[in-house]
Amino acid sequence: MYELIVIGGGPAGLAAACKAWEEGLRHILVLERDQELGGILNQCIHNGFGLQRFKEELTGPEYAGRFIGMLQKTGVEVRLDTMALQIVPGQDGAPHQVHAVNGKNGYQVLETRAVVLAMGCRERTRGAISIPGERPAGIFTAGAAQRYLNIEGYMVGRRVIILGSGDIGLIMARRMTLEGAKVLACVELLPYSSGLTRNIVQCLNDYDIPLYLSHTITDIRGHNRVEQVTVSEVGPDRRPIPGTEMVFDCDTVLLSVGLLPENELTRGAGIDIDPRTSGAKVYENMETAVPGIFACGNVLHVHDLVDYVSAESERAGAAAAAYVKTGREEAALRTIALQNGEGITYTVPQQIRLEARPRPAEVFFRVNRVTGAAALVAEDAAGREVARFRRGHLAPGEMEHIVLPAAALQDAASPLTIRMEEVSQ
Ligand SMILES: Cc1cc2nc3c(=O)[nH]c(=O)nc-3n(C[C@H](O)[C@H](O)[C@H](O)COP(=O)(O)OP(=O)(O)OC[C@H]3O[C@@H](n4cnc5c(N)ncnc54)[C@H](O)[C@@H]3O)c2cc1C
Repeated sequence: MYELIVIGGGPAGLAAACKAWEEGLRHILVLERDQELGGILNQCIHNGFGLQRFKEELTGPEYAGRFIGMLQKTGVEVRLDTMALQIVPGQDGAPHQVHAVNGKNGYQVLETRAVVLAMGCRERTRGAISIPGERPAGIFTAGAAQRYLNIEGYMVGRRVIILGSGDIGLIMARRMTLEGAKVLACVELLPYSSGLTRNIVQCLNDYDIPLYLSHTITDIRGHNRVEQVTVSEVGPDRRPIPGTEMVFDCDTVLLSVGLLPENELTRGAGIDIDPRTSGAKVYENMETAVPGIFACGNVLHVHDLVDYVSAESERAGAAAAAYVKTGREEAALRTIALQNGEGITYTVPQQIRLEARPRPAEVFFRVNRVTGAAALVAEDAAGREVARFRRGHLAPGEMEHIVLPAAALQDAASPLTIRMEEVSQ
């Protein structure tokens, strides 16, 4: 029997497994369905990873390589080409079961004390957003195009329109340009970009690629391959405004219209999902409502920077190790629920357990609009301000993060609301 099974060998799974080993677990297994460890980072050959963690600008494979190197120094067992199919939670302290399959060992039922869910995200496709028009070849999700280009070595098109200004779309606008394609426009439905500001500057502005905010694709034409795309402006109700159509002659459409956490296993195990994040509901130590099952990384909520993925996953790995060694370290004195207030779209964790030894709690969330100077305020059920954090600028594309002081949490009445207050300068 394993002490810990980690599902997914991306940056989240790698960090969780390394940390659990460091904390003393010796029977750890990582299951990865791909042929190699590293997750989505393997296809992200641009730089910009690890600025916080390593104080260096690394490429995705270099960042993953650092963690793979750390893992190779441990005795953690890795099974590649292995798909986890089902988790059956153990009842009343019995071990959990993980069902998995691979070509070498066939169907396996593995037993473990703890599980870390680190399955990452998948991309939303054309079907998910119902773009009108014909169904020619040449329409890809940005991540699929990135894989074709960076891993398989295929150029996916020459004249490109990108729908959605998420980070993957922005990165691909630059990548396609560097490979000789003409990126005609990046089109975004919302009045602001959902990507990082640094990616707007470095991937669009630096290459004179126009960004059309409050616009969307209203038609795609082409018999075998994409030939023309119509882009229209949208009003505040997000409906196309007649008469604003622009027609682009192009052969390729890349979609960067959002990521969906891969939570089929989580749902199948009966773990509560938060509709705001589409990830599991977790406590402050990344534990789900099922004791001994933890979640971290993009499967929990969509992250902007991998550095946060690694830090969060180390917390999950450490908590899984503590669970295996001692069960819950201390009984929780009480639980504070977190809720999102004005200007905030979700919080992770969703609940904080207070123990006899006071500890600060990290909270991650996103805001719902672009602002200048603002305050992030935590207010308890009695209307008391528990903490306040100043920010010079907030944007939905950038994940926010506050640390609630231990002392402030001790007296706070549940639920605690995190809200945004715009500050006039
Ligand atoms: C295009 C793009 C550009 C980015 N640019 C940056 C950047 O510049 N800087 C930055 O810091 N961050 C960037 N990021 C974000 C960062 O790469 C992600 O936040 C990070 O990779 C998430 O790690 P993860 O381990 O949660 O998920 P993933 O990397 O997706 O790993 C999940 C792993 O789980 C495996 N898996 C899933 N289901 C199963 C199963 N049932 N059984 C077995 N294995 C399974 C998958 O095969 C995968 O290997 C970028 C992301 C993308 C997509």
